[in-house]
Amino acid sequence: TRLFLPRDSVAEALGAGAVARALLEGARRRGRPVTLTRTGSRGLLWLEPLLEVETPAGRIAYGPVAPEDVEGLLDAGLLQGAPHPLRLGRPEEMPFLARQQRLTFARCGLIDPLSLDEYRATGGLRGLEAALALGGAAVVEAVAASGLRGRGGAGFPTGIKWRSVRAAEAAQKYVVCNADEGDSGTFADRLLMEGDPFTLIEGMAIAGLATGATQGYVYIRSEYPLAWRSLNAAIAVAEAAGLLGASVLGSGREFRLEARLGAGAYICGEETSLLESLEGRRGIVRAKPPIPALRGLFGQPTLINNVLSFAAVPWILAHGAAAYAECGMGRSRGTMPFQLAGNIRRGGLVELGFGPTLRALVEEFGGGTRSGRPLRAVQVGGPLGAYFPERLLDLPLDYEALAGAGGMLGHGGIVVFDDTVDMARQARFAFEFCAAESCGKCTPCRIGAVRGVEVIDRVIAGRQPARNLALVEDLCEVMRDGSLCAMGGLTPLPVMSALTHFPEDFRRGAAPLA
Ligand code: SF4
Repeated sequence: TRLFLPRDSVAEALGAGAVARALLEGARRRGRPVTLTRTGSRGLLWLEPLLEVETPAGRIAYGPVAPEDVEGLLDAGLLQGAPHPLRLGRPEEMPFLARQQRLTFARCGLIDPLSLDEYRATGGLRGLEAALALGGAAVVEAVAASGLRGRGGAGFPTGIKWRSVRAAEAAQKYVVCNADEGDSGTFADRLLMEGDPFTLIEGMAIAGLATGATQGYVYIRSEYPLAWRSLNAAIAVAEAAGLLGASVLGSGREFRLEARLGAGAYICGEETSLLESLEGRRGIVRAKPPIPALRGLFGQPTLINNVLSFAAVPWILAHGAAAYAECGMGRSRGTMPFQLAGNIRRGGLVELGFGPTLRALVEEFGGGTRSGRPLRAVQVGGPLGAYFPERLLDLPLDYEALAGAGGMLGHGGIVVFDDTVDMARQARFAFEFCAAESCGKCTPCRIGAVRGVEVIDRVIAGRQPARNLALVEDLCEVMRDGSLCAMGGLTPLPVMSALTHFPEDFRRGAAPLA
C-alpha cells in the first residue's frame, strides 16, 4: 500500500515526522508492507499533517493526523481507505481544492518532490522541450503573449523583462530567482520549493535558454531551511539527469543553477539589494537606472523574477500562451496563488484565475475568522500592503482593482484580523517594521520611519491627536514621494489605509502600549 505524507515546513512543525515513524512502525508490526512517499503540501494547512492512502478508488485523505492517531487509524483499516473520524475522502473532491484552478501548483502535494520520473509522468519538462523546439525569440514572445506579470509584488510584465535581457549584448548574462519571500502571510514560494522544486528549475532553465543566460542563481531566505535543502537536492538530481549543465536535455545549450542563502534581511527581497547580497555585500538598494536587465549581477544583464513567475512559465510553454491568458480578468492574466493567513479558520494556498473577490477567498475558502469573532480588517500584499475593512471585501483581486482601492496585490498574501485588532497599533507596526528593515540609504525611509513610530505613539497616548495625525499624513507623503524604493515608498499604504478606514482607533486616547 502506498501512503503519502507531506514533508513541508508546516506539516513537519505539526509532527509529520513522528506520524511517519509511527505509520512505518505500526505497519511493520502488523506485517503490512507499505511505501511512504513524503510529498509537498497541497496547501490545506489547517489539515496538516494530511495523510493520503492510495486505494482502487483513488487517494483517500485523513487529517489532521497526530502521532497518537496512527494506531487507531491502522486498526480502523486506514490502508484500505476505511471510515474513521479523520477521514476526509478524495482530496480533489474537497471544496477547498475542487474550486481551485491549479496550474502552477498542479503537482504540489501529489508527487515525490525529488523524483524526476514522477515529475515527467505528471507533465513535467514538456514546457522545456517545447521551448527548445521553439527557440529563444519565440519563447520570449510566448511569455509576453501569456500576459504573465511579476508575481513577486510589482506586477511588471514578465515578457518585457525577458525581451530586454535577450536583446542586451554581453558575454555573460544571468538569471536570478528571488526566493526571499519575506512578506508576512506569504508562503507560496516556500510551498513550491519544498513541494515541486523541478517546476522552478524548469522555468529558470527556459528563461536561461530564452535570454541567452548560462548561469542562474536562486536567492533563498535563510528562514527556509527545508526549501533550501529540497531545492539543492533537486538541483543535484537535475544535473545528474542532464536537465541542467553543459547541454540542457542534450540540446547543446548550457544552463547551470546554484542556490544562495540570504542572511535574514527583508530588504534583500528588493531586486537590487538582492543583487548586492548575491555579490557578497550588505544588502543596500541600488539606484535605478541602470536597470538590472542591462546592468545587474556583477554588472551584467540579469533577469530577476520571483519564484512564482518562473514557475508559471513551464505551464505556459507546455499549454500555450493563449490558454494561460484565458484565465484572469482585465490586465491581470493567468492564475495567482493567493495565500490565506492570520486569524482565519482555513488557512492555506488558493490558486485561482485573477478576479475572485476578497470575500470569496476569506469566507468561502477561508471559512471566516478562526476565533469566530467578526472580521474587522484584511491586509493584502504583505506588511507594506493596505488594510481593508469588511465593507470592502467585495473588491475583485487583480492588480488594477487593488491599486484603484489604494492597495496592492503584492505577492498575494491575505492576512485576516478579527474585531480585537487595534488599527492604530497596526499603523505603528508598519512604521516600526520599516524602521527595523530600512537599508538606510535614503533619508525619508531611514529617518521617516523612526519619526513615524514616535508620532503615532503620541496619537495613541492622546497627545494633540489632530496635530499629530496631520504630521503622520505629511510624513507619509514625504515617504511615498521621496523614498528610493518600495520599502519606504509603500509604508504609507498600511498607515494611511488604517487611518482612512478605521479612524475611530486613532481617537481612543491613552490606551496602554503592549
Ligand atoms: Fe533603503 Fe528605505 Fe531608501 Fe529603500 S526606501 S533605499 S529601504 S532607505
